[in-house]
This record gives sequence, C-alpha cells and structure tokens, in this order.
Amino acid sequence: MTLQSDSRRWDFETDLLVVGAGAAGMTAALVGAIEGLKTTLCEKSDMVGGTTATSAGTVWMPGSRQSSAAGLPDTIPAVRTYLAAIMGEEANDERLETYLATGPLVLDYLTERSSVAFIPPPVHPDYRAAPGAAIGGRALGAVPFDGRKLGRDFARVRPPRREFMVLGGMMVGKNDIPPLLHPFASRPNLVHAARLLARQARDRINHRRGTRLVMGNALVARLLYSLKQRAVEIRYQSRLSELIEREGRITGAVFETPDGDIAIGANKGVVLAAGGIGWSRALRDRLFPEGTQRFSLAPESVTGDGLLAGERARGQIEQELRSPALWMPSSVMQQADGHLSVFPHIMLDRAKPGLIAVNGAGRRFVNEADSYHDFVDAMLRSHHTVPSIPSFLVCDRSFIGDYGLGLIRPGTSDLTRHLRAGYLFAGDGVVQLAKQIGVDGGTLAETIERHNRFAETGVDADFGRGASELNRFNGDPLNRPNPCMRRIGPGPYYAVAVWPSDLASSAGLRTDVDGRVLTSDRKPIPGLYAAGNDAASIFRGTYPGPGTMIGPAMVFAWRAAMDAAGALEGYAAD
Ligand SMILES: Cc1cc2nc3c(=O)[nH]c(=O)nc-3n(C[C@H](O)[C@H](O)[C@H](O)COP(=O)(O)OP(=O)(O)OC[C@H]3O[C@@H](n4cnc5c(N)ncnc54)[C@H](O)[C@@H]3O)c2cc1C
Repeated sequence: MTLQSDSRRWDFETDLLVVGAGAAGMTAALVGAIEGLKTTLCEKSDMVGGTTATSAGTVWMPGSRQSSAAGLPDTIPAVRTYLAAIMGEEANDERLETYLATGPLVLDYLTERSSVAFIPPPVHPDYRAAPGAAIGGRALGAVPFDGRKLGRDFARVRPPRREFMVLGGMMVGKNDIPPLLHPFASRPNLVHAARLLARQARDRINHRRGTRLVMGNALVARLLYSLKQRAVEIRYQSRLSELIEREGRITGAVFETPDGDIAIGANKGVVLAAGGIGWSRALRDRLFPEGTQRFSLAPESVTGDGLLAGERARGQIEQELRSPALWMPSSVMQQADGHLSVFPHIMLDRAKPGLIAVNGAGRRFVNEADSYHDFVDAMLRSHHTVPSIPSFLVCDRSFIGDYGLGLIRPGTSDLTRHLRAGYLFAGDGVVQLAKQIGVDGGTLAETIERHNRFAETGVDADFGRGASELNRFNGDPLNRPNPCMRRIGPGPYYAVAVWPSDLASSAGLRTDVDGRVLTSDRKPIPGLYAAGNDAASIFRGTYPGPGTMIGPAMVFAWRAAMDAAGALEGYAAD
C-alpha cells in the first residue's frame, strides 16, 4: 500500500469523503451534509459506531448552554485553571483554546439541526482533585434513544460490549443500576425496574437485542438517524487502503470492498476518522510502553489504518505526549464459547469499599478509586521497580455479594465457573490467596491489615482513597465513615488479575485548529483532515475528565467539515 499519485479514473466523485463511522466520522459526515456538501461516509465493518458505540458516550464540553439551563453553570476561566493544574505549560495551546471556544457552539449546532442531543447529569466529577475541577455540568451524556426508530438500520448500530449487557441484550445505564439491584428499596425503584424488564421482554420477541439505547449506543444511533434524515450515503465494508494525491493535494482515496477496489474522488476533502491505533500491531509495538501492548478495547476493525495512511501522505504522528494512549485496567476471561472477554473495571467495583489493588510484591501502589487512567498510570510506574503487570484486585466474599467483581455480577452465589476458568483466584486465608496469585503471604496479610486500620478511621494515610469527589461518587454513599473503605475479611479471600488496556489512543496525526493534517514542518496537507483518535489528543495524553475523547472528536470533526465546506470563517454564536 503506497500513497498514490496517479491519474486514475474515479469510480465516482463526492465533495466530502469521510473514512470511519465513529463519533468523529459520523459527525463530520453529518455536518458536511448539513452544510450542503455531497458527503460519502465509508466504513470498514458492516456496522456504524466503532469504539464510540461501546463507550459511555459522554462529552466533556465546558461552558455549555445545556449545563447552564440545567442549573450547572461552568466558566471557561475555571476550566483554564483546572487544565493548567493538570497540564502545566502544555495547557497554553491553540487547539485547546479553540476546543473550549467551539464546544458549546457544536452542541447548539447539532441540537438545532439534527437529532443529536446531550444532557448533563447533576454529578459527573472531573477526574482530578485540582483547582477549577467541576463536580457536574462539564460532562454531558447522550440522551437515550429508541432504536426502533431506525427500523432495519437498527441492525447497523454496533452493539455495546457484550460484558455490559444483561438479560440477552439489554443496555444498562448508570441510573438503571440501583433500581435493578434493589428493586424493592423504594416505589420509584420498583417502577423503573419493572419498566425496563417489560420493555426488554417485548424487545426479545421482536429484536436481536434491547432497543432502549443509552450512552455511546444512544449517541451513535442518534447520529445514524440524523445521517439517514439527511440522506447521507454510507458505504459499509469499504476499507480505506490508500489516499490519492494529485499535485500536492489529497483528492480522493481507494477502498477495498467485497466487489473489488473502488476509487472515490473528493472535491472538498478527505476526513480520516478510522479510530486511531486500536489493534495495529505495528503501531502498538512502535508507540506503546512495555506491558501495554496486549489488550485493546477497540473493535477489531480499528487497526490504525487512518494513521498509517496519513503518515504515507506526509502527515506526522505526534508522539511527544505524556502517554500514547488512555488506559483502563481490564480483567480477562476466556469464555466457553471461545469469546475472550476483556472487562474494563471502570466504576462498578474499584472504588467500592472493601477492595484493594496489589502489585507483585503484595503491596498497594495506588488510590484504587482514582480514574481508570490514573490507576493504570500508577501500575506502569510501579512496574518500573516491582512486577505490576498484571496487578490484582483483592477482596472478600461479602464484597462480591454486594458489588460484584469484574465479570462477576453482584449477588452471584456460585463462583465455580469463574474459578474454573482461572479468572477468579480464591483462598480460605490470606496466605492461601497469596500463593494463588504468586505474591508473598506475609506481605499481603500486612497490606490488608494496614488497609483495615485505615478503614476503621476512614482515612487512607497512604493513598487518600475516598478523599476526592470522584472517589466518593463511585464509592458507596451508605458506607461510613469513608464511602470507599471498609474492612476486608474474614476469609475466604478472592482476587482477579487486571491488565492495562487502551480505551483510546492519544498519539495521533498532528493537526491544526481546523483538523487539517500537518506535515513535519507544520504545513497543512491540502485536502486532508483527521479527527477523533486519528488526531493527536489536545490533552496531550492527560485525562482531565469524563468525555475528553468524544468531545474533541466531535468538535474537530465539526471544524473539519465546516472548513471543507468553506463555512467556518465568520461562524460565531449569536
Ligand atoms: C468502555 C469505553 C468507554 C468509553 N467511554 C468514553 C466516554 O464516555 N467519553 C469519551 O470521550 N470517550 C470514551 N471512550 C473512548 C472513546 O470511545 C473513543 O476515544 C472514541 O469513541 C473514538 O472515536 P472515533 O470516532 O475516533 O473512533 P471509533 O468510534 O472507533 O470509529 C472508528 C471507525 O472507523 C472504522 N474504520 C477503521 N479503519 C477503517 C478503514 N480503513 N476504512 C474505513 N473505516 C475504518 C472502524 O470500523 C470504526 O467504525 C470510551 C472507550 C471505551 C472502550
């Protein structure tokens, strides 16, 4: 595969050619169409959605009208203070400033012209306890969507990770968890749970999975619905294989399809939005640190194609970032049907009281309730001196009953399947468990004992567990004095191994404020844009808060499409 500079005939021509149908690509295609461009969206798999469809679908959009209207106002100076605290000098960045200025415009633009809609949950804290951090209002979630509205195209929406669905394909949003776990705790809980179950019972008769879509699936379904309404052409099973250049400008691309290669000309530009590094063996080996290369949370169709094509077109992958990817700790289980479950420990168990994480020395190395990225970051740092990949989440039987552990749902009474599969380790006493996971028994006993003393006072003198808004948000509010700490024991004791897995790449093509791909001497490549994970993260490998990937993915996709349409100049909010 090489960049082609030829005079081949186009199989057909379009104005805006978009590669990849995730948050970035679907937004670019939608905006192109709204601005009057003939737009073609080419997707490698037979479904839209990419990683976006399997995500929480949150966008971090400081200062939005939607948040003010919900009584959760945010200010740009507060955000700047926060970003400066996390990113230091790197927060003085033109793209970052452009993001802050454009985010609210994009939300309004899409709300007014499409079915894409977001609402801010009252509480969704930033990921770091730093000056200027928000507790709510900065992160917005996609409004749930009724998949039945898509008709036959519902089957084109990539389903969520199977580990996150229940009852044969029902999606569960964060607000659904308490009613489903404790339906008899209150009348509203009972009504909510009964409605969900009745809907799912009907869906199972008529559909392959539940049609009440939440989170990333709701966002993707809303984008697809909007694209359909604008009659945008979506070409499935069309894999970008090479870009075409003519006289220094990217003028189109070649796609592999089941009917052979087709060459599509793009009069206004090509947007690369193929989801970043994903499973690309070559890019993972080149860019990721040791111990992180094994597991990605991207769908298998995301294999670095956009980045590699961009590089061949003289684009440059920006690598001077604090981290080439954003991480989640995941436990892994080979299922009986051959499926490899990679379960990201996002917020259901790590912050709950009665669990610790230990490294290969049997010692804690992190505030377990911090963000998943910070957790893995600490794991990588610990690994410099002590084997910490994998690390182990350790708890007792009551913890699994109350909160579940990874793939094991709360209340599970029979653990045999998980034990037999080697997913769950168990020991009647601490020393027996330590033997199972290969750490020193005495040290693990000391670690648990020390943690238990902290749990009594509610103060984690080692790592400050439970001290931040984020910790408490994901803890158990009924647990006192610290919602994230309670005694571990008596036995039996349990553990699962967790590995670093990337939820997004932050290393990506260097782009300017309008999403134009830049060469190594910082010149835009005419006709070539990149957005989403195909573009380098504006947060430079830091993870400020929920939604800091999809937010920029949509904003820079918007700017790219607006630029291609010649509609960006002079665009301003009323
Ligand atoms: C469990 C989980 C939860 C997350 N939650 C959030 C969250 O709430 N908020 C947030 O901001 N981020 C979240 N993320 C990260 C976020 O989902 C991704 O960063 C984001 O969705 C990437 O969007 P994208 O458009 O760049 O790529 P994707 O959504 O991955 O889309 C890329 C598309 O391109 C297609 N493609 C690949 N190669 C080609 C090719 N050669 N030709 C044509 N098409 C191609 C793929 O098939 C795919 O459909 C989460 C991630 C995970 C795993």
